[in-house]
Order: sequence, then C-alpha cells, then structure tokens
Amino acid sequence: MSLFNLFGRPSFNHGIHPPSNKTVTGKTPIRRLPFPGMLVIPLNQHIGKPAIPIVKKGEEVVRGQPIAKADGFVSVPIHAPATGRIKGIELMPTAQGRNAPSILLEVYEGATQEVLWGEEQTIGDMSDEALRQAIQNSGMVGLGGAAFPSHVKLTIPDDKSVDTLVVNGCECEPYLSCDHRMMLEHPRPLMRGIRYAMRATGTKQAVIGIEDNKMDAVETLRANLPRDGSISVEAVETKYPQGSEKMLIKSLLGREVPAGGIPAEIGVVVNNVGTLAALGQLLPKGEGLIERVITVAGPGVKHPGNYLVPLGTSIGFVLDQVGYEGSETEFILGGPMMGPAVSALDTPVTKGTSGLLVLNEPNIEAETLRIWPCIRCARCVDACPMHLNPSHLGLLAAKRKYETMAEEFHLNDCFECGSCSYVCPSNIPLVQYFRIAKAINREQAA
Ligand code: SF4
Ligand code: SF4
Repeated sequence: MSLFNLFGRPSFNHGIHPPSNKTVTGKTPIRRLPFPGMLVIPLNQHIGKPAIPIVKKGEEVVRGQPIAKADGFVSVPIHAPATGRIKGIELMPTAQGRNAPSILLEVYEGATQEVLWGEEQTIGDMSDEALRQAIQNSGMVGLGGAAFPSHVKLTIPDDKSVDTLVVNGCECEPYLSCDHRMMLEHPRPLMRGIRYAMRATGTKQAVIGIEDNKMDAVETLRANLPRDGSISVEAVETKYPQGSEKMLIKSLLGREVPAGGIPAEIGVVVNNVGTLAALGQLLPKGEGLIERVITVAGPGVKHPGNYLVPLGTSIGFVLDQVGYEGSETEFILGGPMMGPAVSALDTPVTKGTSGLLVLNEPNIEAETLRIWPCIRCARCVDACPMHLNPSHLGLLAAKRKYETMAEEFHLNDCFECGSCSYVCPSNIPLVQYFRIAKAINREQAA
C-alpha cells in the first residue's frame, strides 16, 4: 500500500529534507558547451566489461562514429563525441579515483556540431530483440548516475515478468536539475523513449514519478501524454531519497522490493527520464550517445546552469567555460549526497556524470569537522529509508565487526544514500563506514 504525506502526495517512510538549491539552474534552459581541444574518453564508462577500442593512434574519426565496441552482453560501445584524430590510448584519471584506459581524441579546430554517423531506423518494424540490440548499439546507459547498460536493464529475465515501467523523474539530490530541464524541454522524445522501453520489456503501463517541487514538469508531461491512457504522471512528495528505485516503487505502487532482490521480482522495471529522453532522441536516427546534459552549480560557480557537454570533456574545461572561484575547493561529480569528490581537473565528464558541483568551503573551523561520540539521539534511525539502525552499525564498524554488520544487521540493504550521516549531530561519517565495511566484505567473499 502507498503512503501519503499531509498534502496527499504519495511518499515513503523516513528520509530527509535537505535544502534543494535548484532554483537558479531549474529555471535556466540547457546550453551547449563548445568542444575542448582534447577529449579523454574512458573505456569503462559503464557498469560491466569495459569497451574494446576499434581505432588506432593517428586514425581520423567523425562525430558519432563508433570508436570502441561492447565486450559481451553487459557492456556497451563508445562513439566519437567530435570529429578529429585519435592521439592514443592511455591510462588517464577517472572519477573513480584511479587511472583507466582511455581513448584520447584531438578535436579538429572548427569541428562541426553535426553528427556525421548513424542511419535512420524504423523502430516500429523491429522485433523486440532487435530493439534491445539497437539500444545496446546506441551505447546507452542509465544517465541518472548508475551507468548500468540500458539494454541489460530492459531485458527481463525469462523467469520474471513485469507489468509496470516506473519512469524516475524525481531528481531528489540537491542542486541537480538536468532531468528537470530534459522533461521541460524534450517531452516528446521522452514519450518516445518510454514507448521503446515499454516495448522492450513487454510492460503495458508506465507511470512517471516527479517530485512536487517540479510541478511545471508534471504539467508539461501531462500535456504530452498519449491518449490511450497507458502512460500517467504522478507528483510525489519532495523528500530525499525519493529518487532511489526502491523508494519510488514504494511511493507510486505500494510494492516492496525484497531484500537483495531486483524490481523485476515484483513486476517492475525502473528507468530514469534523462535516459529515456536520450533514447527517444537517438534511436530513430541510429546514433550513439556522445554528449549529455550536466548540472553545473554550487556556491563557487559564476554561471550555474545545465549544459550539454561532449563526453570526455575535462571538468577543468567545463569550469573555464562557466567560471568559478575559490581556492580550497572540492568538486563533486553528481549530487552532494552520493556523488564522488574529485580533485583532478583533468577528470572527464562521462556517461554517468549528472552534475559538477563546486562547493567552496574555505573557512571551515577544525572544530566543525571534529567527530564526536554518538549521543544515541536516534536521528539517524529516523532518517534511514531502509529502516536500518545506522547508529548500531556505526558502533560495529568502529569495532571492525564487518561480517556481523552484514549477517545480523542487514548492512547490504544500505544503498549508501547518506541520509544518516547528513542528520548526525556528532558528525559521524556513517555512510563512509558502511562503504568501507561493504568493500571489505566483498573482498573477503571474493
Ligand atoms: S545520529 Fe549520530 S549521534 Fe545520533 S544516534 Fe545516530 S550516530 Fe548517534
Ligand atoms: S546510508 Fe544506508 S544506513 Fe544510512 S540512511 Fe542511507 S540506507 Fe540507511
């Protein structure tokens, strides 16, 4: 059964209400950034096996041309974001904090924005299997940040069947508004993408969930719905982490994904609005994913907004274009709750990069950063959407009882939303403890 808040909006239990900080960027139309002189395109921009390069040093490529092929089913190809010459394949920095094999593409001066590769395809004539293959060929992954290959997500295992496609338009992380702008500016490609996803998964109904701080997007999409009633739009409560799959399914459908399970086990498949809008744009033209919209925001940014950025553009180039200031600066790729912090300005924007935040924190007193003992206030318990006991898990982590955390206190149900750390008055970095504990458990299991 779905829960409803005081205003009658569908919601879930627990969660937090951090300041949204979306007012400026949510109102600013998407703008395109120019090409940098060099693009650094990692081969592992998605979950699964890295793509395999199909170009050599010195080769000339055109915008949109495939430059790396998928390595098996859980993998996707990569396409050239600009016309230019391959400078090499080298180990380069990534957002994951380690160097990874990347294709270096020197962009020709004055290179055209026109996509020069790709053949129109009639999706209606395709079998469902051919449609899923076309999705893999497009190199599409979840653009909400997970970067899970879309064709894998849209392939329902033989022993499962799904009845509902949940389209995630919540964008619950503070600052981020790229999905909001996609819904406002590209509603028709989004509807096309939803149709493709419904066909690929065999679902007969789709429901788009949008937080009620984006009522303009709710209205825009309602005005673009097909008449057959197969797709609906629902405004849900603005609350973090409403945009996590499990919470949104609970809010919209009142169904619960079993512990350790996937949404298909309860008849649901979830896709993000940005991903489906991009699919709706690319598939009819037979093109690959070569650029994406990212939100660039934070107190250090001079011209915050949503920008269409070629994949492989360094965050340093993005910041030069939008302007930023500050000396002691932290950059976050994605939202402030779950996005990784990076310091290298040559880190590239990749398929899973939804935002670039510049959080200037020049005058933090050491006392403010100090970690205090747990005072058993239970704020973390009230915040946890998974109904875990983060305080107790934190105490076990301090004693390095990682196995006990997993076996007796459901550590693996934690999806690292960071709500517990956010509310903790003692500054205890709970979510960081849980990440470490899970990584150690994984290593030991391997
Ligand atoms: S919020 Fe922090 S201080 Fe309060 S119970 Fe949880 S861990 Fe302890
Ligand atoms: S990070 Fe994990 S433990 Fe903390 S609130 Fe989120 S799900 Fe709960």
